[in-house]
Amino acid sequence: MSVLTDEEHDDAELDSKSSEDADSTPADPLVELSDVEFGYTAAPVVEDISIRITPGEYVAIVGPNGSGKSTLMKLILGLLRPDEGSATLFGEPSHSFDDGARIGYVAQHASASKEMPITVREVVKMGRFPHVGFGILSAEDHEIVDEALATVGMSDFANRRVTQLSGGQRQRAFIARALAGEADLLVLDEPTVGVDAESVDAFYDLLESLNDEGITILLIEHDLGAVTDHAERIICLNREVYFDGPTDDFVESDALARAFGTAATVMGDI
Ligand code: ADP
Repeated sequence: MSVLTDEEHDDAELDSKSSEDADSTPADPLVELSDVEFGYTAAPVVEDISIRITPGEYVAIVGPNGSGKSTLMKLILGLLRPDEGSATLFGEPSHSFDDGARIGYVAQHASASKEMPITVREVVKMGRFPHVGFGILSAEDHEIVDEALATVGMSDFANRRVTQLSGGQRQRAFIARALAGEADLLVLDEPTVGVDAESVDAFYDLLESLNDEGITILLIEHDLGAVTDHAERIICLNREVYFDGPTDDFVESDALARAFGTAATVMGDI
């Protein structure tokens, strides 16, 4: 029988840990872009993009105006097809992915339905439609809708028209729609533009609690202060990826100045 010294014991423990890591399969990515390049004309607006987002992450994409953030989001969602490289969603080519209920998309200003004279509850009920087809919502579906409204703190506004909501409330209504749809991935495009400062904080707290419950969050954000306070991982873009890693490392890196070409800081809006 051999007895290990403390040091050998530590080494042995490390070895067994690393072989455990080697054996365990990493989580399947929800989003995977490999060597993606895309241009609206012959000149690429994004290139050399390789990104992998796994379940449970909270990721923010930041970059100056015109850096390709919206284009990247459309490539991720399969609304655009890469000229080069590949993009997958839940393991399927993004452009042919058709299980829309797994993704909750909250557009900038959630403006698409600004003019629609429908109530918050009706918006949230839409989240159930992919699950019931053209059928009628069951009692269970209505319960899920109520629960989603409660989660985002909008129960009291359920019968109010979307047109009568503040920007922050409207965003909450659209998040509730995604929750009612039981989305695994929440994608938000500058969700707090035009939302007052106090509601912005509450909004990010809500995203954080949804993330704690296991929902993967991907957002494009212009407000660097907000993302560095909340997101766990930052992807800093300017045509190509300047930084991709933990938020704390981003704050300490020079990626921001390199990507923005200025002495930008994370204190304010960009
Ligand atoms: P961001 O979201 O970071 O502001 P975009 O992805 O919107 O950046 O734009 C990246 C580049 O692609 C910009 O130069 C923009 O002018 C160009 N672009 C965006 N959309 C289109 C389009 N539909 N047709 C042609 N060029 C576009």
